[in-house]
Amino acid sequence: MVALETSKKTVMECESEHFLMAQRQLDEIALEMGLDPELHERLRYPKRALIVTIPIKMDDGTVQTFTGYRVQHDVTLGPAKGGIRFHPEVNLGEVSSLAMLMTWKCSLMNLPYGGAKGGIRCEPWKLSQNELERLTRRYTSEIINLIGPDKDIPAPDMYTNEQTMAWIMDTYSINVGHTVPSVVTGKPVSVGGSLGRFEATGRGVAYCVRRAASYVGLTTKSPTVVVQGFGNVGAIAARLLHESGYTIVAVSDVHGGIYNPEGLDIPRLQAYLSEMGKVSGFPGSKDISNQELLALPCDVLIPAALAGQITVENVHDLKCKIVVEGANGPTSPEADKILHEKGILVVPDILANAGGVTVSYFEWVQGLMHLFWSEQEVNHRLEEIMGRACDQVFEMTAKTGLRPRMSALRIAVGRLAEAKKLRGLYP
Ligand code: NAD
Repeated sequence: MVALETSKKTVMECESEHFLMAQRQLDEIALEMGLDPELHERLRYPKRALIVTIPIKMDDGTVQTFTGYRVQHDVTLGPAKGGIRFHPEVNLGEVSSLAMLMTWKCSLMNLPYGGAKGGIRCEPWKLSQNELERLTRRYTSEIINLIGPDKDIPAPDMYTNEQTMAWIMDTYSINVGHTVPSVVTGKPVSVGGSLGRFEATGRGVAYCVRRAASYVGLTTKSPTVVVQGFGNVGAIAARLLHESGYTIVAVSDVHGGIYNPEGLDIPRLQAYLSEMGKVSGFPGSKDISNQELLALPCDVLIPAALAGQITVENVHDLKCKIVVEGANGPTSPEADKILHEKGILVVPDILANAGGVTVSYFEWVQGLMHLFWSEQEVNHRLEEIMGRACDQVFEMTAKTGLRPRMSALRIAVGRLAEAKKLRGLYP
């Protein structure tokens, strides 16, 4: 294990534009809210970062060595919380910026957590199930001193899933000598996962759409919605909005999009997607490109695929009233400013896609209590927390004139700053 002292100038800054961008965003809000300069300086860097070397035996008998990371940005409000991703682009800077975003997201949602993120630099699609299991278990052993239900609770992220979480939980449990389900969230329900977790992010997006529609005073009987990305987040949000009377006029996946101004039959589209593996060609709709999709006239646009989709190049083409960011970072900072000037309401990612971490929190709480809730109870509590956070962000926006993204950050940083002031220098 190699522990890094994360003092002033670190490899994080050199390695990643992501990390510098996350710092610039903090700098902007720190200046705006007059944040104490000493506190500001402390929040620009993670509390802890660990780099580990992971040798594993491959199926062909050779040994390959991978690099893994776990970064805790802050632990003032409680144990650190954040996903683990397997991807060839994982590096210390990226993981550190994502850990910082988790701190803001948890604080904004008023969850008793700090922010963390982890990952392994690898090409998961080239590894067999057995190799993935050995990689996950060895990584867990290497970071075991950092994680635990009261210390740091991992969850799934890109190319990790319920099975990955079950392996982490099992490896941790073997090491401590008893079963500890609450060391991870996003586990299978059969080993202590929560009902409603799988749908939570899309459901949270749908709640935000309804709240935002009432905030901007959308009076249309059946508001129109365009969804980019028809995966876990986008498809679930589309189905729930369809069920509650919204008209989903267009959706897309990596292969392209489809459009029907009269509305798409979402349950039939889901069946079509399961059979064909893509949305294009869906009967009764017109095939369109992903760029055409972003420029369609609609009430609500939900980018739920990738980062960097709305930029200065295409922001002037948008014809929606509301953008609800299901994906992480779909709007560039410059485009965000332009949308605000044009009077388009943007519900920022740290609010719009926080349903996942919120139900992760419920999973952790249920595990610690050994008492499990019905799906209805989970959804009801999620709606309450999402609704409250939306109202707070919209109120701050109305009061200060800040962009909603900056309002959300101001609430998150303000809450953390107050706790830090009361606690002292440790966290
Ligand atoms: P997913 O893999 O289930 O779905 C992604 C969808 O986007 C797929 O339909 C894919 O075909 C589509 N897509 C990929 N490239 C595209 C492109 N160039 N144009 C249009 N569509 C494209 O992923 P997901 O879990 O739904 O996550 C989507 C986004 O939401 C990601 O940014 C992720 O970080 C974010 N997010 C997810 C969760 C969660 O709980 N799943 C939580 C927070 C944030």
